Amino acid sequence: MTDMQFPWGKNKRYNDFPSSFKRRFSERIQKISIDAGFTCPNRDGSKGVGGCTYCNNNSFNPAYCSPKKSISEQILLGIDFFNAKYKAQYYLAYFQAYSNTYGHIDHLKKIYEEALSHDKVIGLVIGTRPDCVSESLLEYLEELAKDYYISIEYGVESVNDLALESINRGHTYQEAEDTILKTANRGIHIGAHLVNGLPFDTPKMMIKHAVQLSNLPIDTLKLHQLQILNNTTMAKQYEEKPEQFYLFEMEEYLDFVVDVIEQINPNVTLERFINQAPKGWLIAPKWGIKNFEFVDKLDKKLVERDTWQGKLFQVKD
Ligand code: SF4
Repeated sequence: MTDMQFPWGKNKRYNDFPSSFKRRFSERIQKISIDAGFTCPNRDGSKGVGGCTYCNNNSFNPAYCSPKKSISEQILLGIDFFNAKYKAQYYLAYFQAYSNTYGHIDHLKKIYEEALSHDKVIGLVIGTRPDCVSESLLEYLEELAKDYYISIEYGVESVNDLALESINRGHTYQEAEDTILKTANRGIHIGAHLVNGLPFDTPKMMIKHAVQLSNLPIDTLKLHQLQILNNTTMAKQYEEKPEQFYLFEMEEYLDFVVDVIEQINPNVTLERFINQAPKGWLIAPKWGIKNFEFVDKLDKKLVERDTWQGKLFQVKD
């Protein structure tokens, strides 16, 4: 196969998110993380306490964002931060920490609109759980999506309810599927996220999970390897029973990702493959590889195996 025969029309063996983003926006776009002070239903007692066993939310908050600051302040600080680094022209407000639709609709409208009131903010990326999205919120976001880029990222994490139960997730896979279907056809960009290596999931099952999700009306899939982080319930469980966890070696995970890529729907863009916990947080697996280095290895591996996204994808009847 020559380069230009790939359905996404470029010299890349998978439908990569950065290129699809560049096709959509002519200006450089930067995401600014916002911590709006949310919690999650498996933290506040409504569905459980303690949160997901692997979660240490402090690990993904950049220094400039804190719920102690207003949304507008966080946006101004984020713009200052990125202006120093890049000549970004426009921004997306990325509601990232915890479950960013878990609140009263009036409160949600207020904070989303505060973010959109900055003239450089052209859209929202909202990370949340599939069990925290109401019909009225979807109707509201559908309206917003007529004027702004609106993306919802659902943490699906696994298709296996045993795995979800074991991490104290507090929702089933079916709830994720139902919510994705309810979100579809509203002009909202839908992202889904899977963690690879949870208890009760085998690599074979994880590949099937990615294929199953790619058959749903999602636009983007994010994958990452399970990481055991300090100060989490999982860290204790790992210390006591390490055999319960499937922690990939880096080279093995590379092949796993290639297997996923060749079997999933070529229409879904792929945004991420690995996570990198900040220094000092990570217990295992310690790969010591940066995201761009992994992507580089992945490109080479796809050439080596002469494969590409969807090579083995079977269209569902
Ligand atoms: S839903 Fe997300 S933020 Fe909440 S406990 Fe689980 S991983 Fe952490």
